[in-house]
Amino acid sequence: MKEFEVIKEFFTAQPVNRKDVAMGIGDDCALIRASDSKYIAITTDTLVCGVHFPTDTPARAIGHKAVAVNLSDLAAMGAEPAWISVAVTLPTVDREWLAEFTAGIFELTEYFNVQLIGGDTTSGPLSITITAQGTVPQGKALCRNGAGNGDWVYVTGEIGEAGLALQALREQVSLSPREMQHAMDALNYPKPQVLAGQVVREYASAAIDISDGLLADLTHLCQASTLGISLDVNDLPIAPVLLNKLGEEGAARLALTAGDDYQLIFTVPDTNKVALETELKQANIKSSCIGQMNKSQEIIISRGETRLSFAESGFEHFS
Ligand code: ADP
Ligand code: MG
Repeated sequence: MKEFEVIKEFFTAQPVNRKDVAMGIGDDCALIRASDSKYIAITTDTLVCGVHFPTDTPARAIGHKAVAVNLSDLAAMGAEPAWISVAVTLPTVDREWLAEFTAGIFELTEYFNVQLIGGDTTSGPLSITITAQGTVPQGKALCRNGAGNGDWVYVTGEIGEAGLALQALREQVSLSPREMQHAMDALNYPKPQVLAGQVVREYASAAIDISDGLLADLTHLCQASTLGISLDVNDLPIAPVLLNKLGEEGAARLALTAGDDYQLIFTVPDTNKVALETELKQANIKSSCIGQMNKSQEIIISRGETRLSFAESGFEHFS
């Protein structure tokens, strides 16, 4: 059974009974009506040592990443981050490790004006669970199910470098010390696209963040919106180092299927395309148009005239 089948079969059993739940299970965040004009967006993500990060990952990176992946889900809703709770399970109390770990947390909370408001501390194998909450004006929240037929599909930033770092750690590719440093930074210190989410929410119809891989997360957006997309790998914002190291074919494969990018995918109606691109440029946010939503309910990937196919779409916990 796969992760999403488990969620669907066992955890969606409860019908949504409360009127203040605008979005329950199934999106990057839940949305709760906090007032007539505002939603509170809430998300939880766990990082398990050896699963979500290699055992020798620096403590500061673990703290940073645990916050970043949660803020990334808030960004995907167009929400402004406000509060986090941090639950840690620690094998031992190591003061030096804890100082670095919390420094990693606080560098992001400070940058985004987020308050740590609670959590839990237990002993056991290293694992971190963070719940992040933020606010978004009602009517501006970006859900996965909002894309319309013909909407343009965009991706922020560049993709694939975190995946390249993992390949290098597994010695499947060899990088120069400088390339390795850069790739490890992408893996360990992802930058949640919080500002992009807030700029985009004025124009976009749907969004999702890329945690499991572009193809996997694009599939979630397409399924939620009951639409499909045709895309050409030549339009993907693949990090140049992937092309250098893996060639066109390998780079496209890794960029589409490796996770941990924490960029945003979003869709924009044609009427908003020009305004959105102007705003993103003004805010200095890199984005690439990778295709257009269509009614096919399929994701068709090609390079020019050649159709490509992929056995795996992204990271799966129970594969
Ligand atoms: P993301 O990758 O954006 O963090 P996930 O793929 O982890 O989202 O989860 C998909 C959806 O399922 C989310 O809405 C999440 O809140 C929900 N979910 C995951 N696990 C559970 C669970 N055990 N109980 C209830 N909801 C869950
Ligand atoms: Mg997400």
